[in-house]
Amino acid sequence: MTDEGMDRVRRVLAQQLETDRLVGLRDWPVAATVGPRAASTAPVPDPSCAVEKQSKLAKLDAEQVKSCTLCELSQRRKNTVFGVGNADARLVFVGEAPGAEEDRQGIPFVGPAGQLLTKMILAMGLRREDVYICNILKCRPPNNRDPAAEEIAACSPYLMEQLSVIQPEVIVALGAPAARTLLQTSESIGRLRGRFHDFYLSGSSLMGQPIPLMPTYHPAYLLRSPGEKAKAWADLQLIMARMNLPGPGNAAG
Ligand code: URA
Repeated sequence: MTDEGMDRVRRVLAQQLETDRLVGLRDWPVAATVGPRAASTAPVPDPSCAVEKQSKLAKLDAEQVKSCTLCELSQRRKNTVFGVGNADARLVFVGEAPGAEEDRQGIPFVGPAGQLLTKMILAMGLRREDVYICNILKCRPPNNRDPAAEEIAACSPYLMEQLSVIQPEVIVALGAPAARTLLQTSESIGRLRGRFHDFYLSGSSLMGQPIPLMPTYHPAYLLRSPGEKAKAWADLQLIMARMNLPGPGNAAG
């Protein structure tokens, strides 16, 4: 890899460490099982593959996303918010769009919803750095309004490129906009959640093989409606069982 490539990788890793420093761990109702247990059943990662994927993601961010002006959100942003985490992750979380704190820091899910997402990930026996986290939109909509159709159309090719580089085993769509965009449906999140759907990544090397996608409630919604957390946890447990992750969701764990 070139010096410039290594610099980019270093910057991304530093950004990840900063994210980890900023998020807290309490409140999600299930005991966390972190680290070595999670690693024990995961396929052995190939470090050269991870570095290559990280370098492709860093290039997409640096050469296309950071300078993107395809929609009007580009005119108000403080920062683009590309994505964070393991470029070779087995599990990818896709949210809606950056909020105020994400816009300020340029990192997804670092505000209050992000802190809950971190607890959900920990409850699955994983750490933020084990998974990849990104959004449908890379720029913040004003006043956190819902993404507009033309913004999704302009921005979602970046997401598709991220997913085709990472090629995760499972995708989690957080909330209706993410689930509807990825599944090309107008169905409600309440009807979509609770089961896996087939997500087809067009033009990727997966050769028409679908990626299982689990829609679940967005953590911002769970903060407003904590009574729904049990349903979200049930969704995460289905993912843990499918991925053979040890923990309370898997009888083997
Ligand atoms: N909500 C999202 O959907 N994404 C973020 O990055 C933060 C909050």
